Amino acid sequence: QMATVVIAGRPNVGKSTIFNRLVGRRQALVADQPGVTRDRKEGEATLRGRTVRLIDTAGLEESGPDTLFGRMRASSEQAVQTADLVLFCIDARAGITPADEHFATWLRRQNRPILLVANKAEGKAGAAAAMEAFSLGLGTPIGISAEHGDGIADLMTMIVDAL
Ligand code: GDP
Ligand code: MG
Repeated sequence: QMATVVIAGRPNVGKSTIFNRLVGRRQALVADQPGVTRDRKEGEATLRGRTVRLIDTAGLEESGPDTLFGRMRASSEQAVQTADLVLFCIDARAGITPADEHFATWLRRQNRPILLVANKAEGKAGAAAAMEAFSLGLGTPIGISAEHGDGIADLMTMIVDAL
Protein backbone atom coordinates (compact mmCIF):
# COMPACT_ATOMS: atom_id res chain seq x y z
CA GLN A 1 0.00 0.00 0.00
CA MET A 2 1.45 3.31 -1.17
CA ALA A 3 1.61 6.05 1.47
CA THR A 4 -0.38 9.25 0.86
CA VAL A 5 1.23 12.63 1.50
CA VAL A 6 -1.06 15.69 1.44
CA ILE A 7 0.20 19.23 0.79
CA ALA A 8 -1.99 21.73 2.66
CA GLY A 9 -1.95 25.43 3.48
CA ARG A 10 -3.47 28.72 2.44
CA PRO A 11 -3.40 30.01 -1.16
CA ASN A 12 -0.13 31.33 -2.56
CA VAL A 13 2.26 29.80 -0.01
CA GLY A 14 3.74 27.66 -2.81
CA LYS A 15 1.93 24.31 -2.46
CA SER A 16 1.84 23.63 -6.20
CA THR A 17 5.49 24.62 -6.58
CA ILE A 18 6.38 22.18 -3.78
CA PHE A 19 4.22 19.52 -5.42
CA ASN A 20 6.03 19.96 -8.76
CA ARG A 21 9.42 19.85 -7.01
CA LEU A 22 8.58 16.59 -5.26
CA VAL A 23 6.88 14.93 -8.23
CA GLY A 24 9.70 15.98 -10.53
CA ARG A 25 10.26 17.48 -13.91
CA ARG A 26 8.79 14.79 -16.14
CA GLN A 27 5.28 14.80 -14.66
CA ALA A 28 5.30 18.58 -14.24
CA LEU A 29 6.03 18.98 -17.97
CA VAL A 30 3.20 16.63 -18.89
CA ALA A 31 0.88 18.78 -16.79
CA ASP A 32 1.86 21.86 -18.83
CA GLN A 33 0.60 20.41 -22.13
CA PRO A 34 -2.45 22.17 -23.59
CA GLY A 35 -5.73 20.67 -22.47
CA VAL A 36 -4.21 19.20 -19.34
CA THR A 37 -5.00 21.08 -16.19
CA ARG A 38 -1.95 23.05 -15.15
CA ASP A 39 -2.67 22.63 -11.46
CA ARG A 40 -2.22 18.89 -11.02
CA LYS A 41 -3.76 17.64 -7.85
CA GLU A 42 -2.31 14.17 -7.61
CA GLY A 43 0.92 12.51 -8.60
CA GLU A 44 3.49 9.96 -7.62
CA ALA A 45 6.79 11.05 -6.21
CA THR A 46 9.80 8.83 -5.66
CA LEU A 47 11.60 10.14 -2.60
CA ARG A 48 14.85 8.43 -1.60
CA GLY A 49 13.73 5.35 -3.52
CA ARG A 50 10.28 5.25 -1.94
CA THR A 51 7.27 6.01 -4.12
CA VAL A 52 4.43 7.91 -2.45
CA ARG A 53 1.11 9.32 -3.60
CA LEU A 54 1.20 13.09 -3.38
CA ILE A 55 -1.93 15.27 -3.21
CA ASP A 56 -1.94 19.03 -3.78
CA THR A 57 -4.99 20.58 -2.11
CA ALA A 58 -5.54 23.08 -4.90
CA GLY A 59 -8.80 24.87 -5.70
CA LEU A 60 -8.93 27.09 -2.65
CA GLU A 61 -9.71 30.10 -4.81
CA GLU A 62 -12.93 28.49 -6.04
CA SER A 63 -16.22 29.43 -4.44
CA GLY A 64 -17.27 27.76 -1.22
CA PRO A 65 -17.56 28.78 2.41
CA ASP A 66 -16.89 32.50 2.49
CA THR A 67 -14.02 32.69 4.93
CA LEU A 68 -10.48 31.78 3.94
CA PHE A 69 -10.25 29.29 6.78
CA GLY A 70 -13.58 27.75 5.70
CA ARG A 71 -12.30 27.27 2.17
CA MET A 72 -8.97 25.86 3.40
CA ARG A 73 -10.77 23.41 5.57
CA ALA A 74 -13.34 22.40 2.93
CA SER A 75 -10.70 21.75 0.31
CA SER A 76 -8.41 19.78 2.64
CA GLU A 77 -10.77 17.85 4.87
CA GLN A 78 -11.19 14.77 2.67
CA ALA A 79 -7.54 14.67 1.65
CA VAL A 80 -6.32 15.07 5.23
CA GLN A 81 -8.49 12.17 6.33
CA THR A 82 -6.70 9.87 3.87
CA ALA A 83 -3.25 11.23 4.68
CA ASP A 84 -0.42 9.22 6.17
CA LEU A 85 1.42 12.53 6.43
CA VAL A 86 0.41 16.17 6.00
CA LEU A 87 2.84 18.82 4.80
CA PHE A 88 1.45 21.99 6.33
CA CYS A 89 2.95 24.81 4.30
CA ILE A 90 3.38 28.44 5.27
CA ASP A 91 5.02 31.41 3.53
CA ALA A 92 8.11 32.41 5.52
CA ARG A 93 8.20 35.82 3.79
CA ALA A 94 4.61 36.68 4.67
CA GLY A 95 4.93 35.35 8.23
CA ILE A 96 2.22 33.56 10.18
CA THR A 97 -1.29 34.82 9.39
CA PRO A 98 -4.55 34.30 11.34
CA ALA A 99 -5.65 31.81 8.64
CA ASP A 100 -2.44 29.80 9.21
CA GLU A 101 -3.12 29.77 12.97
CA HIS A 102 -6.74 28.69 12.54
CA PHE A 103 -5.78 25.96 10.13
CA ALA A 104 -2.97 24.73 12.41
CA THR A 105 -5.43 24.42 15.30
CA TRP A 106 -7.86 22.45 13.15
CA LEU A 107 -5.08 20.30 11.69
CA ARG A 108 -3.73 19.32 15.11
CA ARG A 109 -7.16 17.88 15.96
CA GLN A 110 -7.12 15.62 12.90
CA ASN A 111 -4.52 13.39 14.55
CA ARG A 112 -2.39 12.95 11.47
CA PRO A 113 1.40 13.19 11.42
CA ILE A 114 2.37 16.70 10.29
CA LEU A 115 5.55 18.22 8.91
CA LEU A 116 5.64 22.01 9.10
CA VAL A 117 7.13 23.41 5.90
CA ALA A 118 8.18 27.07 5.77
CA ASN A 119 8.47 27.84 2.06
CA LYS A 120 9.97 30.94 0.38
CA ALA A 121 12.79 30.75 2.93
CA GLU A 122 15.60 31.39 0.45
CA GLY A 123 18.59 33.36 1.71
CA LYS A 124 19.72 34.21 5.23
CA ALA A 125 16.64 36.30 6.01
CA GLY A 126 14.48 33.38 4.89
CA ALA A 127 16.03 30.95 7.35
CA ALA A 128 15.35 33.36 10.22
CA ALA A 129 11.79 34.01 9.01
CA ALA A 130 11.11 30.27 8.86
CA MET A 131 11.78 29.99 12.60
CA GLU A 132 8.80 32.27 13.31
CA ALA A 133 6.63 29.27 12.43
CA PHE A 134 7.71 27.60 15.72
CA SER A 135 4.85 29.61 17.26
CA LEU A 136 2.31 27.33 15.53
CA GLY A 137 3.16 24.53 17.94
CA LEU A 138 3.63 21.99 15.17
CA GLY A 139 7.29 21.28 15.81
CA THR A 140 10.42 22.50 14.09
CA PRO A 141 9.73 24.33 10.82
CA ILE A 142 11.54 22.92 7.80
CA GLY A 143 12.79 25.92 5.84
CA ILE A 144 12.78 25.40 2.09
CA SER A 145 12.62 27.34 -1.14
CA ALA A 146 10.57 25.34 -3.63
CA GLU A 147 11.29 27.88 -6.34
CA HIS A 148 15.08 27.78 -5.88
CA GLY A 149 15.31 24.16 -4.76
CA ASP A 150 16.83 24.92 -1.35
CA GLY A 151 16.16 22.31 1.33
CA ILE A 152 14.24 19.97 -0.99
CA ALA A 153 16.61 17.02 -0.56
CA ASP A 154 16.36 17.35 3.25
CA LEU A 155 12.58 17.63 3.02
CA MET A 156 12.43 14.41 1.00
CA THR A 157 14.44 12.62 3.67
CA MET A 158 12.19 13.97 6.43
CA ILE A 159 9.06 12.85 4.57
CA VAL A 160 10.38 9.31 4.15
CA ASP A 161 11.54 9.19 7.80
CA ALA A 162 8.08 10.33 8.98
CA LEU A 163 6.22 7.58 7.07
P1 GDP B 1 -0.20 27.71 -4.01
O1 GDP B 1 -1.34 28.64 -4.24
O2 GDP B 1 -0.01 27.44 -2.55
O3 GDP B 1 -0.29 26.43 -4.81
O4 GDP B 1 1.13 28.48 -4.47
P2 GDP B 1 1.93 28.39 -5.87
O5 GDP B 1 2.77 27.18 -5.93
O6 GDP B 1 0.99 28.62 -7.00
O7 GDP B 1 2.93 29.63 -5.70
C1 GDP B 1 2.44 30.93 -5.44
C2 GDP B 1 3.49 31.97 -5.81
O8 GDP B 1 4.64 31.83 -4.95
C3 GDP B 1 4.02 31.78 -7.24
O9 GDP B 1 4.21 33.07 -7.80
C4 GDP B 1 5.36 31.08 -7.03
O10 GDP B 1 6.25 31.35 -8.09
C5 GDP B 1 5.82 31.68 -5.71
N1 GDP B 1 6.75 30.77 -4.99
C6 GDP B 1 6.63 29.43 -4.81
N2 GDP B 1 7.69 28.95 -4.13
C7 GDP B 1 8.48 30.01 -3.86
C8 GDP B 1 9.74 30.14 -3.16
O11 GDP B 1 10.36 29.19 -2.68
N3 GDP B 1 10.24 31.41 -3.04
C9 GDP B 1 9.60 32.49 -3.59
N4 GDP B 1 10.17 33.69 -3.42
N5 GDP B 1 8.43 32.39 -4.26
C10 GDP B 1 7.89 31.17 -4.40
MG1 MG C 1 -1.77 25.72 -6.10
